Amino acid sequence: MTSTTSPRIAVFGSINMDLVAYVDTAPASGETVSGSRFAQVPGGKGANQAVAAARAGGDVAFFGAVGDDAFGTQLRTNLVETGIEVSEMRTVPGASGVAHIVVESTGANSIIVIAGANAAMTDVSERDRRLLEGSAALLLQLELPMEGVIAAARAGREAGVPTVLTPAPARELPAELIGLVDLLVPNQHEAAAITGEREPRAALAELLKLVPEAIITLGADGSLYGRRGADPVHVPAPRVEAVDTTAAGDTFCGAFAVARAEGRAPEDALRFAAAASALSVQRLGASSSMPGRAEIEEAIA
Ligand code: ATP
Repeated sequence: MTSTTSPRIAVFGSINMDLVAYVDTAPASGETVSGSRFAQVPGGKGANQAVAAARAGGDVAFFGAVGDDAFGTQLRTNLVETGIEVSEMRTVPGASGVAHIVVESTGANSIIVIAGANAAMTDVSERDRRLLEGSAALLLQLELPMEGVIAAARAGREAGVPTVLTPAPARELPAELIGLVDLLVPNQHEAAAITGEREPRAALAELLKLVPEAIITLGADGSLYGRRGADPVHVPAPRVEAVDTTAAGDTFCGAFAVARAEGRAPEDALRFAAAASALSVQRLGASSSMPGRAEIEEAIA
């Protein structure tokens, strides 16, 4: 049974202004190249997952920080216009986070993130905790200070909210954090970095020694889901022409969280997430490329 009301999805994460350069081939060190286009779009893994979940049909609350600069105002407005609850979002003195993104003509991307206001997210307030209560999932990533991510995961666990961690960008995962994670969603490189195993099924088996449930996203090869005590499930990705894979993983994670929170079985939720992310890779941009609920439903019908 799927529920009729939108599930509450909480996202504790980063929010950045993405400054995106489109080029044939990214410059090597010391090289200058001409780009074909520039775009300034709201991003950050946390905000991207929040937008993905809201577009996919979730009732989303975002916990994060922007600076008191022009980017901060634009970033907050973008979330509000997407229908995301921002009552506990913080505005701190200084610059908002920014990400410099280079997108090549193949759709491959490389990214430099400068944390800015995101560095202030080191704790969880009492008001954050109250807003977190009753959420169907708490989505976390690794673009905030580790102490903040751990504090949020602990608050989620204490509130009985299932925690979902995208371990990106790849960095050391403290045992304390792993112990607070219910579902881990790495891509293939992150899974290999955590487990030392490149082969997805072997990596999944290792991940399930750390957390009860995991999904390894495999780009155009789809995703591999596992739960302790159950057989792994591979769901292929729809065959599409990718023009920009920026935030494919965030789109997948946000959509999957909504579908699971609605009571769909893991395999159905994976198909929903695969459809959402396949739609997003066919368009330029990060959050601006994420599909809405009706479009996703149409793609899986
Ligand atoms: P990114 O860092 O670009 O946001 P990621 O590395 O975190 O992405 P991927 O494993 O590349 O994550 O992609 C996440 C999901 O997006 C995949 O599991 C798949 O469902 C979908 N996807 C990615 N690339 C493609 C593609 N070329 N065609 C169809 N679906 C894709």
